[in-house]
This record gives sequence, C-alpha cells and structure tokens, in this order.
Amino acid sequence: MNALYPWQKVNWQRIQPQIGQCKALALLLAGSIGMGKQHFAEQLAMLALCQQPILSDHTLGLIGACGRCPICRLVMPTCTHPDLHNLSVGEGKSITVDQIRQLCEQLSITPKQAKRRVVIISPAEYMNKSASNALLKTLEELPARTLIILVSHRPRCLLPTILSRCQLLKFSPQPGTEGIRWLRKQLADEAGQAEQLLNLLDGAPLRALAWAKQDNRQWRENFLTTCLSPERKDPLDCAATYKTANIINLIHTWQILLIDLLQLAQLGQKAQLRLNHPQLTRLHQAKPQLNRRRLLVFYDQLLATQANAQNSTALNTQLTLERLFILWQDISNP
Ligand SMILES: [Zn+2]
Repeated sequence: MNALYPWQKVNWQRIQPQIGQCKALALLLAGSIGMGKQHFAEQLAMLALCQQPILSDHTLGLIGACGRCPICRLVMPTCTHPDLHNLSVGEGKSITVDQIRQLCEQLSITPKQAKRRVVIISPAEYMNKSASNALLKTLEELPARTLIILVSHRPRCLLPTILSRCQLLKFSPQPGTEGIRWLRKQLADEAGQAEQLLNLLDGAPLRALAWAKQDNRQWRENFLTTCLSPERKDPLDCAATYKTANIINLIHTWQILLIDLLQLAQLGQKAQLRLNHPQLTRLHQAKPQLNRRRLLVFYDQLLATQANAQNSTALNTQLTLERLFILWQDISNP
C-alpha cells in the first residue's frame, strides 16, 4: 500500500473494519481541495480488491493492500482493473447520465476477478441532475459486494437524497501539527513558510504544496504583475486572460497579496511580506494612500467569491473576475 497522508490515518482506522466485511457500502469522502481525498479513495479501492490485505502500520494497526497478489499487481500501477470503475473527471468537465447508467449496468454483472466491485466517482458534484438521479436509484438498492466511493470538494452541491444514502468521511482542514509537519518536510528549504501557507490555503496541505511549487510560480508572477502594475490593462481584458485559471488558486493569490498590502499599510518597512515581488513595495511607495478600510472591503469580496466558488459548480468565472478586477482597479487607484 502506498503511504496515506498522516492526516488521513484516523479516517482509515474508522473505515477499514467495514471494508474488511465486504458488505455493500456507499461512502462520501468530503472536504476541500488539497486534502488528498482522491488518493484516499484509490487506496481504499485497492484494499477492497486485494486478495490478501496486510498490516501496513503496526503502531496504528492499519490494514492495506498487499501489493503482491495478482489483483494488486494489476490494479496498482494505474489504479485500473475490470472490477474497479474509476469515473474521475477534471476541472470544468461534467459527469453525464449516460456515464452513470453505463456504470450502474456494470454493477449488475458479477465481479470478474475480485471478491467485489468498486466504483469511484470524483468529484461527485460534477454529476448533473439526471446523472445524480440515475445514481440515486443504485444507491437506494445497492447491489451486493459493491463499494461506491463518492469524492466531493463541495458536498453541499449534492442532492440531499444522495447525501443521506452515503456514509460520510470528512476530511477536515489541517492547520495543526500533522499538516504543518508534513508540509515542512516537503518544502525543505522553504519550511518556514509552511504554517503561513496552510493558514492561507484553508489548511489543505496538498494545495499549499502546489502553491509553493515551481510550476505555479510563472502564473503567479504574471497575475501579481497584472494586479500590481500601475498602468494596468482594462479590467475586462484582465478577466479574459484569467478566465480559465483555477479560480480558487487565483483568489488565494489575491488574498495573500491583500494581506501583504495590509501589512505594508500598517507596518511600512517593518512588514514581513509573504510575496517577494518588486512591484509590491513600489506600489505601496507610489500609493501610500491605499487605505486599510478599502483593502479590507476587497478582502471581504474575495472571501464571498471564494465561498461561492466552493459551493457552486455553475460559477461564471469570467463575470466574477470582471467584477473583481473592476473593483480592484477602483480600490488600487484611489
Ligand atoms: Zn493484494
């Protein structure tokens, strides 16, 4: 078994006895992006299919897939197997009724090799209404020897009838020691940032790590330059440039920028800035009149947008960004 993230072990302890019993079961793994729920779902699927599960953590008594039996050898490299139906889609896609119907048909057939079938649907809120209703029928009469795992970043977007038929495993934010310790280890030379990043990124360690990684740096630099450059472009053009970006990441970056500007407004040269961007202090020097009240108003707007983005699958990113960039231009050009 691949290692679980340290903050996931309590949930694993809770659920492993039920996986061992091989009864029909529907689970909902719920929590914000960056908690590793998909990884947990795949580990659980492997455990459910493995022919000879082993003790993988002696201290906590955790059981995991053996990695050696014929089924594990098939499943482990790519998390695929005839008895594992992994319906996981990327950002912005939707899960259609046809996909769900096809999946449910597969569940009426006896498992091909393993002792049971496993279904992963991720993110479950990407099912449209008819897809949700089609799944509901299966959840109401769950076929024997079936494990259904729904993964959701926004469980409030799911039908209440789906929620009530699933056992909930919650992946709560990790601002505490386990998340920080893990993140410090991953960040190595930037370990000092771990606590701040976790606080800023909803206590989601994997999102904090992604934020700190190189591959986000160029995108972030461009976005910050857009926000900080005194001769900014038209707000509508800015919105068009970032309409395909991950809005949650974008809002977080903006929040961090706001926190730095608030610090600069309050502490001046003594401010301990999170962003290392030349334009940041330049903007502050050029516009010392940027006042705290206006920055806080914008921060509230970001929080409201963040809540919307987390609780809705139908957010119009371009319109939302247009509104924010217009407001930002107004605030940063007093
Ligand atoms: Zn195995």
